[in-house]
Amino acid sequence: MEQKYVDLHSHSTASDGTLTPTQLMQAASRGGLVGIALTDHDTGNGLKEAGAEARRLGLRFVPGVEISADYDIPGAVHILGHFIDPDAPGLLDMSRLLLEARNARNPRIIARLNEVGCRITMEQVEAIARENVPADQPVVIGRPHIARALLNAGCVSTIKQAFNVYLGEGGSAYFPKERLTPRQSIECIHNAGGLATLAHPTQLKVDRPHTQTIISFLAEAGLDGLEIWHADHTPKDSEFFMELARRYDLAPTGGSDFHGHNKADIALGRGRNNVRVPVEILDNLEARWRARQGARPVA
Ligand code: AMP
Ligand code: ZN
Ligand code: FE
Ligand code: FE
Repeated sequence: MEQKYVDLHSHSTASDGTLTPTQLMQAASRGGLVGIALTDHDTGNGLKEAGAEARRLGLRFVPGVEISADYDIPGAVHILGHFIDPDAPGLLDMSRLLLEARNARNPRIIARLNEVGCRITMEQVEAIARENVPADQPVVIGRPHIARALLNAGCVSTIKQAFNVYLGEGGSAYFPKERLTPRQSIECIHNAGGLATLAHPTQLKVDRPHTQTIISFLAEAGLDGLEIWHADHTPKDSEFFMELARRYDLAPTGGSDFHGHNKADIALGRGRNNVRVPVEILDNLEARWRARQGARPVA
């Protein structure tokens, strides 16, 4: 039988992607995927719309979220939640808190950009983030929106340059935002009924022994899975992460981290280098989730 594929990491206009949840499901279906997870940063706002469109298209849909956790390393610890309940009160509280943290950080970034001569305004950034977002929904403003404003103003010629010069860690307008710890992120996802997995472990930006130490710590803290396939991973990276997944009994997962035009080199379901995730990975993740449901009373 022909191999079928899924994509378990993607973003919509509910955070910093450029396709609406509906358009994203349509793109997945057109691209021949049989299943997709929507994993917007800090919010489940797009999940109902995406779920309804996926149902209409006959796509398997996994409601998800991505939380940036605080950890004292050079890189990023991003925890994905899969199979979360978008209405879970703990998730809504968390979203509100993280939105406040963004709203405290973003004006600082804009002020610094103005100081160094980039004339962009919070209103311009908000308008970019608000594009195609229903009026009754709060917008989640991320650095890719600020990058687009910089591009529009002619301050940079690519989004990549916006991150390298200004917005990325080490950039002249970088400010961290308040975040949950990895343990809090995992607990929040568990309390919303989901499975917690570590996204793009290469973005930890530490060497392999240190990567292993962090993954072992996260496994102790309740992590359920590890992202093996991702736009940033080489085949060698994926092999190494698969070994760690086996060692710490973590479910393997994978996805493109599609953001639409905000990361134009990443294709839905294929990442940068035709990274493909077989549907069996979703079957396995779902079985793990069901087993967990049985093992733990759902609040
Ligand atoms: P924020 O949630 O506002 O901190 O922004 C996070 C978003 O910025 C995610 O989509 C990241 O993938 C993206 N991002 C972070 N660093 C970079 C970078 N150096 N180049 C491109 N995108 C980045
Ligand atoms: Zn993003
Ligand atoms: Fe991420
Ligand atoms: Fe992501």
